[in-house]
Amino acid sequence: MWFCIKCGKPVKKEELIRGYCLDCFRKNINIFKNIPELKITICPICGSWLYRGDWWPPASEPEILEALINHEVQNNLIEGAKLLETYVNDWKYIDSRTISASAELEVNIDEKPLAYTREFTAKINYQKCPRCTARAVGKHSYLVQIRFTSRNYPPNLSHEVLGMVLSGVQRDSIVNIKELPEGIDIELDDGTTARRIIEVLSKKYSAKINTSFRSTRFDPSRGKWIGVTTYVARIPVFRENDIVIYKNTVGVVKLVDKNKLMIMHLDTGLLEEVDVKMYWVNKLKHPTRVEKEEFIVKEIKNDNLIVESMSTGETRVLKARKLLKNLKQNDHVILIKVDDIETIVPKQEGD
Ligand SMILES: [Zn+2]
Ligand SMILES: [Zn+2]
Repeated sequence: MWFCIKCGKPVKKEELIRGYCLDCFRKNINIFKNIPELKITICPICGSWLYRGDWWPPASEPEILEALINHEVQNNLIEGAKLLETYVNDWKYIDSRTISASAELEVNIDEKPLAYTREFTAKINYQKCPRCTARAVGKHSYLVQIRFTSRNYPPNLSHEVLGMVLSGVQRDSIVNIKELPEGIDIELDDGTTARRIIEVLSKKYSAKINTSFRSTRFDPSRGKWIGVTTYVARIPVFRENDIVIYKNTVGVVKLVDKNKLMIMHLDTGLLEEVDVKMYWVNKLKHPTRVEKEEFIVKEIKNDNLIVESMSTGETRVLKARKLLKNLKQNDHVILIKVDDIETIVPKQEGD
């Protein structure tokens, strides 16, 4: 059996710290060297806080206190002592710039755990963080430009896209949103949010992204160039009733749902769901020229139709494909010439 050198109480060897029982050690040995007053710097606008030279995202008072206490206590413990955990269990503002807090500290001394309760005082200094300072003058380091492949995009499309983009991101890093005739510019001060927006645009609207960086100055303290990263996202524009060329056949857009189109092939009448991203591999495109000419069915011979142009009187012989099978003499058909592709369809009301 061992005995405490202070109170003489018998103690098991493994419960003895430097000759003392746990109680006497806690009461008689100060394991804390000089613990200075804690100093907290908080941005009054966004609540982020400065710690060891870096600004951290907004956090609650206990979280900030725990981080500071952890650091300060660890640096001011006697030899052989190690701080394991800090828990702020009570805190209050004494005035607008002073917080008093009580913290539970779990400390290992010579590998034996001891719990302490300590009071701390923290002084708060309010200082605008660099981000809020930059925002105040409208500075941004990321620019997302939403553009469309057609200048005559539907006016509600840009609003729809913007709504979709904003619903999926943290808005607090958006410095400004500008609506322009050619699209929308979103200015941000955070790259993660900018890239998240780009991801939404590319996934939901099959936008093609171009990235560029324009440097404005060199920052020697960070050893890198500061500037604006610009992402241009071009969204292909398709509208209902657009005539399109898809995989070299002519079709009509029947339905548009963000990056999906329902296209009806004119020569078969069949519907097909097409991903708008086909636009970027040149498999889905708008024709540069669409011409229509009306013909009248003159004669039906076996599988052939003999038709005559209403405008020029020119006659043609057509194979009676599926869609043309039910035509009778004197029915009208429309020849649609889309770029170099010709398709004949029965005339419908409104053609
Ligand atoms: Zn003792
Ligand atoms: Zn701030």
